[in-house]
Amino acid sequence: MTKTDIKSLTMEDLGQVLGELGMPAYSAKQIFTWLYKKHASDFEQMTNISKSSRRLLSEQFEISTLKILSKKVSQDNTTKYQFLLDDGCTIESVLIPMGRWHTLCVSTQVGCALGCRFCLTGIKGFKRQLGVSEMINQLEGVRSDCPETPVSHIVFMGMGEPFANYDNVMKAIDILTSEHGYQYSAHRITVSTAGLVPQIKRFINESKAHLAVSLNAAYDDARSLLMPVNNTYSIKDIMDAVKDYHRKRKGWITFEYVMIKGINDGIGHAIQFVKLTRDFPCKVNLIPFNRHWGADYEKPDEEHIHAFQEYLLNHNITCMIRTARGEEIEAACGQLGGVKNFEGGD
Ligand code: SF4
Repeated sequence: MTKTDIKSLTMEDLGQVLGELGMPAYSAKQIFTWLYKKHASDFEQMTNISKSSRRLLSEQFEISTLKILSKKVSQDNTTKYQFLLDDGCTIESVLIPMGRWHTLCVSTQVGCALGCRFCLTGIKGFKRQLGVSEMINQLEGVRSDCPETPVSHIVFMGMGEPFANYDNVMKAIDILTSEHGYQYSAHRITVSTAGLVPQIKRFINESKAHLAVSLNAAYDDARSLLMPVNNTYSIKDIMDAVKDYHRKRKGWITFEYVMIKGINDGIGHAIQFVKLTRDFPCKVNLIPFNRHWGADYEKPDEEHIHAFQEYLLNHNITCMIRTARGEEIEAACGQLGGVKNFEGGD
């Protein structure tokens, strides 16, 4: 009999399955606490659950983990983990220190179908969706590797388009924010999308986590050149959805903007960006392109980067230039999933 991966279940799902097995509903809370607060790896460790129930659990469920295949630490202490999945595929996660905080950048797919031209993951194409437990176990793997480094923030911004794996990402967020699970505040979780508008609309109503949009150009022609998904959902479609996000959440939205020399780094894009976002508050992360083997693009000149930032700042838009974190270990934005992520897959 194939066992169910217990980390693929939200507490509600687990409660339902336990009920069908004749176990009390409160067992779901106990099990969540053992899995995500005490990091149990065996049902026998769950000593406040009766022996017969522990036996039943181990007959029905497995507690999965991910194997760390490699770990690279850059000079700025950014750490890139490569995890081995059960089917032989590999994924990457990046632990980024930011002062006293640590942010974990989590992958949601093996590869990505959206094919953004500047992104190594996109260039390699799509392999498969990640399951809920495969997302949760990236955090668990990092935690067990360095338990002294608590992860304060989670960003779904690694390999893959999170909203193309919407249901699993929402379930993973449910476990991360569960009172009996990891108990993260939703404000410390960010989901970044390339602009899948129907899912943005669902997310606004279904999640309290923060939204980031990878915009990367203020004009459709440049954006379509960089991101083929723009041919389906234009900048106007995205801005309409984002206005709705602001109306309902009353909060600001983050835009990621990978700057590429000669494509989207001109002041014209900054001027147009200000026009696009005049109806709602936003923050912008300018990310100078990190060179890699998969694209011919170049990083803009410093003066263009600073002129762009200054224009946005002068128009009351919070705008940070994100220094490339972990560039030399290919852990920076757009560099994940380089050479080895499909090895061993079917
Ligand atoms: S930038 Fe994101 S959405 Fe675009 S190809 Fe890369 S992983 Fe996919």
